[in-house]
Amino acid sequence: MNWALKLEEVRKSYKENSQISHSLRRHMGVIGQFIVGMLPLAPKFVVKRIAGRYVAGSDIHSAITLMKEMHEENTCFTIDVLGEEITNLDEARFFVDEYSRVLDAIVKNEIDANISLKPTALGLLLNRDVAIENIKEILKKAAINDIFVRLDMEDHRVTQETIDIVLLMQEMGFENIGTVLQGRLFRTEEDIKKICTLLGPLSDFRICKGIYLEPQDISHTSYQDIVNATNDCIDVMLESGSYTAIASHDYPVINHSLDKLKELQMSFENDPRINSADSRVGKGSGYEFQFLLGVRGDLRRKLSAQGHLTRVYVPYGTKWYEYGIRRIRENPDIAWHATKTLLFPWTNRR
Ligand code: FAD
Repeated sequence: MNWALKLEEVRKSYKENSQISHSLRRHMGVIGQFIVGMLPLAPKFVVKRIAGRYVAGSDIHSAITLMKEMHEENTCFTIDVLGEEITNLDEARFFVDEYSRVLDAIVKNEIDANISLKPTALGLLLNRDVAIENIKEILKKAAINDIFVRLDMEDHRVTQETIDIVLLMQEMGFENIGTVLQGRLFRTEEDIKKICTLLGPLSDFRICKGIYLEPQDISHTSYQDIVNATNDCIDVMLESGSYTAIASHDYPVINHSLDKLKELQMSFENDPRINSADSRVGKGSGYEFQFLLGVRGDLRRKLSAQGHLTRVYVPYGTKWYEYGIRRIRENPDIAWHATKTLLFPWTNRR
């Protein structure tokens, strides 16, 4: 058989196979969508099986066990105690105490991890002063242990307040704090520039697309516009010398970041930017890639094998049900993942 004939045969078989897998995936997708639609009616143990991919468990011990199990994956972590906007300040006290336990556990178990906090869970929308005191208390303990604190960014009601708290804490001398900015918001490029002017090389961002569907007068709403805006923000952050944590599972964002890092000649060991800070404890040289637990672990492991610092966002807590359902609903591909989790549990690697 000559090579042209062989090539044609291979091409034909590839086409047939990809049609089969496409059609199989489409059918599985329909089943999956049905499963997702039925989730609120499903027994909790079924939801737990699916949500279990995205949540470490209901207490800090499960999070520690998981991070130890992931040790050989050559990644580090940021820990999130699940829960968002609260209705009374006693609930905020719970989060302060729980984060204190998290910090103790990180130190005791020598885990390469920092923490992520939601300002509204600490009372920001109920009493700003109390929220600031709560954040300061956690920050102080983290600083003593050389642990970084990231303020997650919530919806536009608290964008400015969250940025202001970071600036205030830095003014008070805490250098171990940074926030998240969302590429979808029109204001973000300006925010980066303002923060960099005030904090210089101490500016430290997580950049993501933004999970909240914001009104169209303040944010991009189409997929491509959000990707383009997020990529522009990544460029501004990297060029400004700030520490840049790229939090996306999307190839166009990751590939753009890799190109930009190459252009700036940045790598895990090397940050030649003249306007950047010296590398800090638990950090890479100027940048890292961040992933949610359970999402595109294959891509994370590939980036890590290529020598990039990666970090997994590890949520845990008794609110795992709400978080798991949200993760499952927010992604169109999840129908497939949900189906796979239930029918082929052995493929369920995080
Ligand atoms: P997408 O286009 O949504 O996802 C790309 C691909 O990833 C999908 O096609 C799918 O294949 C895969 N994928 C995505 N989600 C799942 C899933 N649940 N299961 C299986 N596969 C999936 N947003 C905020 O507003 N504030 C924050 O503080 C914040 N912190 C974050 C921290 C981290 C570490 C990460 C990774 C994200 C954070 N986000 C935050 C969420 C972020 O803004 C996006 O909403 C989210 O990451 C989805 O956007 P994406 O760039 O990954 O692209």
